[in-house]
Amino acid sequence: MANVFLVGAGPGDPGMLTLRAKEIIETCDIMIYDYLANADFLKWCKPDCEILYVGKKGGDHTLPQDKINDLIVEKARSGLVVCRLKGGDPYVFGRGGEEGEELVEAGIDFEVVPGITAGVAAAAYAGIPVTHRDFTTSVCFITGHEDPTKAESGNNWEVYGRSNSTLVFYMGVGNLPMIAQNLMENGRPADTPVALVRWGTRCNQTSFVSDLEHVAEDAQARNWKAPSIIIVGGVCSLHDKLGWFEKKPLLGQGVVVTRAREQASGLVNVLRSHGACVHEFPTISVEPLADYNEVETAILQLARYQWVVFTSVNGVKFFWEQLREIGLDARIFGGMQIAAIGPATADELRARGIEPDFIPEKYVAEHVVEGLLKRGIQGSDVLIPRAKVAREVLPRELKEAGCNVTVLPVYETRLVQADGDEIMTALGAGKIRYVTFTSSSTVENFFELVPADVFKNYPDVKIASIGPVTSETVKRFGFTPALEPEDYTIPGLVDALIKDATGE
Ligand code: SAH
Repeated sequence: MANVFLVGAGPGDPGMLTLRAKEIIETCDIMIYDYLANADFLKWCKPDCEILYVGKKGGDHTLPQDKINDLIVEKARSGLVVCRLKGGDPYVFGRGGEEGEELVEAGIDFEVVPGITAGVAAAAYAGIPVTHRDFTTSVCFITGHEDPTKAESGNNWEVYGRSNSTLVFYMGVGNLPMIAQNLMENGRPADTPVALVRWGTRCNQTSFVSDLEHVAEDAQARNWKAPSIIIVGGVCSLHDKLGWFEKKPLLGQGVVVTRAREQASGLVNVLRSHGACVHEFPTISVEPLADYNEVETAILQLARYQWVVFTSVNGVKFFWEQLREIGLDARIFGGMQIAAIGPATADELRARGIEPDFIPEKYVAEHVVEGLLKRGIQGSDVLIPRAKVAREVLPRELKEAGCNVTVLPVYETRLVQADGDEIMTALGAGKIRYVTFTSSSTVENFFELVPADVFKNYPDVKIASIGPVTSETVKRFGFTPALEPEDYTIPGLVDALIKDATGE
């Protein structure tokens, strides 16, 4: 069985990684990765995986190829599983072929996991099909950065000039004037469309279309940089018509998500699907309690209550975990009334076979009490399973309304012991446009990690708060949320961001 895998990481969008590649990332013992492989994937590595970076650092060059080859062979000999992860496809200008040869010579078995190459993916994300019956019958992948040790050009400009093939140049930005010139000199019309796509498929993708005659000066005017592919041919004329990715409403907008990692994926995925550059910065973590005796007792005496009010998804999850521990299930609620404060909490209950009797129209404690009172909760015995530390409004008001309230902590949130350096660097580099807060504790902990005095220096960064209670906490730190959705939910928050970003 092979223990070395040459793996393509695709063009950058995490969704463009193959299932096989993910499997190997998750199981490898040693990860050797490159500049163009999306580093987000490393989060799937096993905790004890040895992670080695051989790509560019800042402006520096990569580790020389012969040193990379030696490293792969050396690590492979240890008998551990090595994942050699490269951007795009490992055999398309990835020097994967050379690494494969080294391995064969060293007598080491290996497998290749092809990846989606930038020349196809970045083109597609820019609205350019690399072949199209109206324009061309073939496509060429060409290096725009020839091996400098070669005496003569390996590129046959005469053939490229004469053919009507779509030409896709990799690593060509520095040689763009030469490329355009050679093609025109060899017969391609000066008005042949040319597209440049930079950081294709990533949230910071940009692209433009020009023609052979003007593309070099247009790129210079835009101060165009690598990594970028250059596409030449009639298919580029479809860029405006078929372009879809760059139309996304949050494309390129830096958005900080402060929710606990366990809860963030919904928000993160929706933001990404709208094109945002998401910075995950969990400020709190959701943790089980040290001791569940009290919860167990409450569950065994559940029949005492007429109402159970769930205030969060986590409240439902942790309560059910204890139910299961005891060997019970949803039947224990019998004829009891159940309330869910918010649509996500309601869905969590539905997933467990319970249709809530009450879901408030607005998701803050004050409105909830009003609604519950209308449902005749006065005088009832009410159980509220929730976080250890939480707002007292709901229990207090229910008590005032004559209920007999028991607050039952089923989990706790803790400050994540991270430092704010990464976010402060991103703020300093102008990469952040929005910071989202989904609860008061995310606000408090954010300013614990990124001091208000530092945050003050970035008045253009907008705060998006999920609702009025969270907004109050933001104000305590001396800031005013620029955005607050009408309904205090995650989808509402995303809609508010989109409205703000598009000015609609
Ligand atoms: N093996 C890679 C190519 C590596 S060569 C693949 O199959 O995609 C590096 C060149 O690939 C860059 O100079 C650039 O031309 C291109 N490239 C890689 N990722 C890119 C991206 N996301 N957007 C645009 N070009 C990209």
